[in-house]
Amino acid sequence: MRKRIVVLGGGTAGTLAANRLRRLLDRDAAEITVIDPDDAHLYQPGLLFVPFGLTRPSSLTRPRARQFRDGVTFLRAAVDRVDLDCDTVVLAGGAPVRYDVLIIATGARLIPEETEGLTGPGWMEKVFTFYSFDGAVALERVLSGFTGGRLAVAVMDMPVKCPVAPLEFCFLADAYFRKRGIRGEVDLTYVTPLDGAFTKPVASRELGGLLKDKGISLVTEFNTGEVDGAGGRLISYDGREVPFDLAVVVPLHGGQAYVERSPGLGDGLGFVPTDPRTLQSRARPNVFVIGDAADIPASKAGSVAHFEGEVLARNVIRYLAGRPLDAGFDGHTNCFIESGSGKALLIDFNYDTEPLTGHFPGPAGLPLLRQSRLNHLGKLAFSWLYWHVLLPGREIPAVRSPMPAAGKHQAGTGATAPAGSPR
Ligand SMILES: Cc1cc2nc3c(=O)[nH]c(=O)nc-3n(C[C@H](O)[C@H](O)[C@H](O)COP(=O)(O)OP(=O)(O)OC[C@H]3O[C@@H](n4cnc5c(N)ncnc54)[C@H](O)[C@@H]3O)c2cc1C
Repeated sequence: MRKRIVVLGGGTAGTLAANRLRRLLDRDAAEITVIDPDDAHLYQPGLLFVPFGLTRPSSLTRPRARQFRDGVTFLRAAVDRVDLDCDTVVLAGGAPVRYDVLIIATGARLIPEETEGLTGPGWMEKVFTFYSFDGAVALERVLSGFTGGRLAVAVMDMPVKCPVAPLEFCFLADAYFRKRGIRGEVDLTYVTPLDGAFTKPVASRELGGLLKDKGISLVTEFNTGEVDGAGGRLISYDGREVPFDLAVVVPLHGGQAYVERSPGLGDGLGFVPTDPRTLQSRARPNVFVIGDAADIPASKAGSVAHFEGEVLARNVIRYLAGRPLDAGFDGHTNCFIESGSGKALLIDFNYDTEPLTGHFPGPAGLPLLRQSRLNHLGKLAFSWLYWHVLLPGREIPAVRSPMPAAGKHQAGTGATAPAGSPR
């Protein structure tokens, strides 16, 4: 009997999951339906460049329906809730959609209204975010008219999508103001709830050093409790303040609202509890999760969704065949970090291994945790890879789901890590 595979969300993760499964499963073995309320697929990594006039906003979106392989049905509708007991998705308007296997790929939602004052006076006047299309476009206008003052870039709390993006924003802002000849008039501050520039020690040291070299102040362990947009102050829960003339914030993230309306599916933040190795949900064996919607301790990034896709597709097929699942996802994350002036760094890590120096994906590859022009070209090429390799669910030769160890220097020793995956 033909199985019904239903994918919730047609963003990065849902699209690549559906396309991978369509390549692997005969049409008479399974029908695959993707549900998403709109037909505009946004290339989110491009939002970083919009405020600095480095990308045309209109170039970031393409029709969603065109990103699916033949044989994937796109249903344009919003999910209202999932009824796990009846293996049914209920659409807004009440129509039921039955499934044999459900794949949750509805990503993360920005919830700025959860931070006191953030969306009050000053919001979109002197407090902005580049994490949304409208915010990034508005910020371009404001930055081009900014002639000097205190610019604070602040992460409200973790987890956030692409945790390096706010750092990249700082580096690009430094280069942007230098180019305009007003860097001396701008006081740039990076405000983070973490105890350093980044989560892992080696990367935190390197990226913290880069902030210092560029004259960007770093404020750590700052949990923003309130944003006073009118008065120009970020206020932490422990009473510290960071003054600003212009604030660029990364709002709190949560799961989608329908998760809360689906008994047994999500946690308190609306993310979906998931086995970090098999990507099977904790809620039901026939429910799998991919991308930002999962509660796993991997970064929320498109590259992660790509690496997850390999394991997820394999496990959906194993599940349908009644075979044991592969606990093969190792948390592999790979991110280019734009550092300004045509250079970028690259980090590569997984659940067990922090971002290290060396080269990727082997000794003769791209430099890790070091600024280079080559990495910047890699960052620019990511856009092409996204539309033509990631979304269609193709493999990148030499860059597979298990994190490579060859070419990396072990932390603190300078010695090269042994070849092969650390799993
Ligand atoms: C500024 C910025 C820079 C970034 N830079 C990078 C980078 O350089 N490299 C990188 O790897 N990643 C980067 N990312 C992160 C990357 O874009 C995300 O991690 C990735 O898009 C996650 O994919 P997803 O499918 O889980 O979520 P999304 O791509 O956000 O897709 C979720 C989908 O679910 C749909 N949906 C939501 N609610 C419902 C509902 N009720 N019913 C049906 N459908 C619904 C949405 O419409 C959407 O299409 C960046 C993100 C941002 C914001």
